[in-house]
Amino acid sequence: MASVTLRAVSKHWGAFTAVEAVSLDIADGEFMVLLGPSGCGKTTTMRMIAGLDDPTAGEILIGDGVVNDVSPGDRNLAMVFQNYGLYPHMTVAENIGYPLKVRRVASAERERKVRAAAARVELEAYLERKPQALSGGQRQRVALARAIVRTPRLFLMDEPLSNLDAKLRVSMRAQLKHLQRELGTTTIYVTHDQVEAMTLADRVAVMSKGRLQQVGSPLEIYNRPKNVMVAEFLGNPSMNLIAAAIEAGQIRHPSFSLAIGDLAPGPVTVGQRAEDMRIVPPDQGDFRAEIFAAELLGDATIMTVRLGSSLVAVKADKDCPARMGDIVGVTFDRSKLHFFDAGTGERLG
Ligand code: ATP
Repeated sequence: MASVTLRAVSKHWGAFTAVEAVSLDIADGEFMVLLGPSGCGKTTTMRMIAGLDDPTAGEILIGDGVVNDVSPGDRNLAMVFQNYGLYPHMTVAENIGYPLKVRRVASAERERKVRAAAARVELEAYLERKPQALSGGQRQRVALARAIVRTPRLFLMDEPLSNLDAKLRVSMRAQLKHLQRELGTTTIYVTHDQVEAMTLADRVAVMSKGRLQQVGSPLEIYNRPKNVMVAEFLGNPSMNLIAAAIEAGQIRHPSFSLAIGDLAPGPVTVGQRAEDMRIVPPDQGDFRAEIFAAELLGDATIMTVRLGSSLVAVKADKDCPARMGDIVGVTFDRSKLHFFDAGTGERLG
């Protein structure tokens, strides 16, 4: 096992910057998720850690050693990809045992290790099958077994669950988390799925446009997003962001005023998550609004209401009686407001 350190790592493709000056410390045994929208540079960051792409600038350390000049095969890490990367002509057992064969592990020991790895992901019954005779979830488990078979010091996983259907993804997510905890192997996991990031990670590194935006525990990032990009990216529905102004200790908006204490006067972006807002009778809210859409989720209803020319999402009770077109009152939770600079989008306070 090993820690991983990135020191001002950049990757440029000609004039295009895929990753810019990313510095990150990943602790020994940590589950670190690189999260961000498509094209933000997370895969490129992981490929540089794997040794598949060379950084344009900066240093990558695994354990105490700089690995910039170490070939991928000598970095002692295992990778799991979205498309599994299984060899179609080999059986499950041969696929799992392949990394051991390459390292010339004797066949008796290889067989023992393959059985142990297969048992961990409940594949013992499928060892003689070929990949095409397996379901997507089973193939993904073969890829996982192949990654764990030789106890590497680091796992790198790039969207490993994204080809699975929604239900299987949730159950594989739990299996993956359990397995990583049991093995205690440092894991770097790339995804654009914020739910995966929240549920799997010890810490999440949020990236956008090649830059690291924020690193922290899932709750730190959810509760105190550093800027509007992070605020909008985590949480479903996205955090409501409302353009307003601070004047004399109040948030001023054409549709409401709210006393909030001492913030510097001027334009501001006010953030509030849907679950922190409430639907109340029309005369009791911080503002009145028309219901634009009501979406039943099962355990709650997302009410989208009109606030001026924009829309605001409110997470209401599942049996909230309001319907599209109704006029309701909406309240803010004053203790859970977020404030961002209207120009830069950076968090205030
Ligand atoms: P996705 O989730 O879509 O895979 P990502 O966040 O993993 O996105 P990267 O694959 O790291 O993003 O790509 C970052 C940027 O670098 C993208 O704009 C991509 O087009 C560009 N890029 C990646 N590889 C190359 C390459 N070999 N040559 C030129 N540009 C590249």
